[in-house]
Amino acid sequence: MQSIDKIYINGEFVTPHGSELFDLFNPASEAVIGQVRLADEDDALRAIAAAKAAFPAWSQTSREARIAVLERMHQAVVARESDLLEAIITEYGAPSSRARWMAAWPAQTIRYAIDALKAFIFEESVGRAKVVMTPVGVAGLITPWNSDAGFICNKLATAMAAGCTAVIKPSEMSAWQTQIITEALHAAQIPAGVFNIVTGRGDVVGDVINHHPDIAKISFTGSTAVGKHIVESGARTLKRVTLELGGKSPTVILDDADPKTAVHMALEAGFMNSGQACIAGTRILVPASRKAEFEQEMVAAIAQFPAGDPRDAQTVIGPMVSRKQWQRVQDYIRLGQQEGARLLVGGVGRVEGAEKGWSVQPTIFTDVNNQMRIAREEIFGPVLVVILYADDAEALAIANDTDYGLSALVLSGSSQRGEAMALQIESGRVLVNTLEHEHLAPFGGFKQSGLGREMGKWGLQAYLEPKTLLVG
Ligand code: NAD
Repeated sequence: MQSIDKIYINGEFVTPHGSELFDLFNPASEAVIGQVRLADEDDALRAIAAAKAAFPAWSQTSREARIAVLERMHQAVVARESDLLEAIITEYGAPSSRARWMAAWPAQTIRYAIDALKAFIFEESVGRAKVVMTPVGVAGLITPWNSDAGFICNKLATAMAAGCTAVIKPSEMSAWQTQIITEALHAAQIPAGVFNIVTGRGDVVGDVINHHPDIAKISFTGSTAVGKHIVESGARTLKRVTLELGGKSPTVILDDADPKTAVHMALEAGFMNSGQACIAGTRILVPASRKAEFEQEMVAAIAQFPAGDPRDAQTVIGPMVSRKQWQRVQDYIRLGQQEGARLLVGGVGRVEGAEKGWSVQPTIFTDVNNQMRIAREEIFGPVLVVILYADDAEALAIANDTDYGLSALVLSGSSQRGEAMALQIESGRVLVNTLEHEHLAPFGGFKQSGLGREMGKWGLQAYLEPKTLLVG
């Protein structure tokens, strides 16, 4: 049993003023695996004060000094990779193949922040002026449960690279993963107050961060609804915001695509991270003229995406993180049936043979139109919809007919044709015939998928303000 009863403020593990105990679960068995004592408003205020006090010194450090600290962070997080792996499988339910990537990713994000810092141009001359990129101040970093350690490390390393200090409010559901990362960061001997971690509820600790005048910037990853609330609350003190929010990403299969390859990639994109991914390609657009062929391929390919026990090496789709999330996915599957969509594979209930745990059947609906709620709303589980189109113009119109714009995938026999379509899709990222990621490139959303960008020089810029200096 994990008993997590400390938060991290001003370089020390301290007992929270908050006294609420929150249960941690194993999503595969529904068993309680631990408890976390949550921080409250007082704790948030202490963390903000510590970050504020640390800002003057940290913001003045040289690039070399920051790189040295970030290198220590990187080593310390690498050293905890196997502990993280265990926590990610047990507390989040990621299947072991995915969990291995998730356990390595946090350290990689620190490496990427170091790369961005090394290359960043902090000063340039414009006419008679010098423009100096200056850290904004204390950053509030608020993260979700679907890649807890990675989000914490990416946001923190980037904020620190820019010269900001931080108050981190991770998801309360990932307290074990957060604990491991906090221990690693402590071991890295980062100056006191530069980072503070207060695990607590969003409407308690989060709301203090949203409103506090000493928080200059918020970087938030989570739902669109909470993102909008953060913008509204932060408006009073004109906080800078970076928001990484939800998605309903299209996968456009053009009529020259090889069905087998295209379907496999489309399902991989849709079912990634057990469907609990903001970038998941959950709307699959298929040429109407080849409907039967693509449907058959999907039915055949589903065997390559087994769902169930995350510790089974064969499992590709693990359980949902919580009972609430499981229920939400079940409700959407029922809704799809009520809306008149046809189940091609999957359906309500757990995977076959499972009596406990929050496993869901990978589900694909067909005969879906883009106005149905299952085609418009983010489900955040392994539930995909197939939508037919008549020609490329209609495919593009459907792809863009969404409130979101985080990611898209175009699959075509011709990368030129795919790229021509990609350029017209309203999305922060469009992949053509690949599922690869480029860490130097900006990541973020159009429309209601977010504001601003993370990663690379764009991510770093988001923690800086240009200061114009003219010396007579
Ligand atoms: P959520 O919005 O409920 O919670 C995210 C974080 O915000 C948590 O730490 C939560 O405690 C906190 N929070 C809740 N209410 C708050 C408030 N009033 N003020 C401040 N903070 C508050 O989202 P979730 O359920 O944890 O995560 C799933 C969502 O995250 C999905 O919509 C998904 O698309 C999105 N997401 C986006 C990205 C991206 O990069 N775009 C990545 C992962 C997840």
